[in-house]
Amino acid sequence: MRYESKRPRRQFLAGVKCPKCDEMDAVVQVRIFEPEEDEYIECTKCGHSERRPDPEAIREKNALANDAMSTGTQGTVRFIK
Ligand SMILES: [Zn+2]
Repeated sequence: MRYESKRPRRQFLAGVKCPKCDEMDAVVQVRIFEPEEDEYIECTKCGHSERRPDPEAIREKNALANDAMSTGTQGTVRFIK
């Protein structure tokens, strides 16, 4: 279903307790793609939602920083006419 690719995706997180009401298996992970890609968790029981630290996002940021640094130095070296 192509037309659904940008709609929020919800996935139940088995074995995860809601930090607010302590309900087990009521927490869904919600992924949204618009306006920009984001991710948070939401409790279907009490409606509590919160951002959670995403280790993958941090890894991505680090990779980008490394990339920018290496291309940056290469760029200055190659700019000789
Ligand atoms: Zn809850």
